[in-house]
Amino acid sequence: MHEPVREPRSSENCRFCGGDLLTSVFDTAFRDTTADERLFFAIPGALCIPCRQLYVDQQLIGILGLSDARCTFAIESDRVLRSPAA
Ligand SMILES: [Zn+2]
Repeated sequence: MHEPVREPRSSENCRFCGGDLLTSVFDTAFRDTTADERLFFAIPGALCIPCRQLYVDQQLIGILGLSDARCTFAIESDRVLRSPAA
């Protein structure tokens, strides 16, 4: 059994502007404290369209080592919605 703990609720709103959040999978770029840019693909999250704030699960942020990094780019990824046949 999988625990559904990482998905943001679709009814949540942006904590900055109150806009609706688009829950999807995103290709992202993060810039860390050393100004290195790191790319991550197929990150599950929620994007606020009006202010472009990307919400990603804190546990996932920790796993990726991005606790001190800022998201500089995010685009909805549509090529990962379907996995290859296993
Ligand atoms: Zn917002």
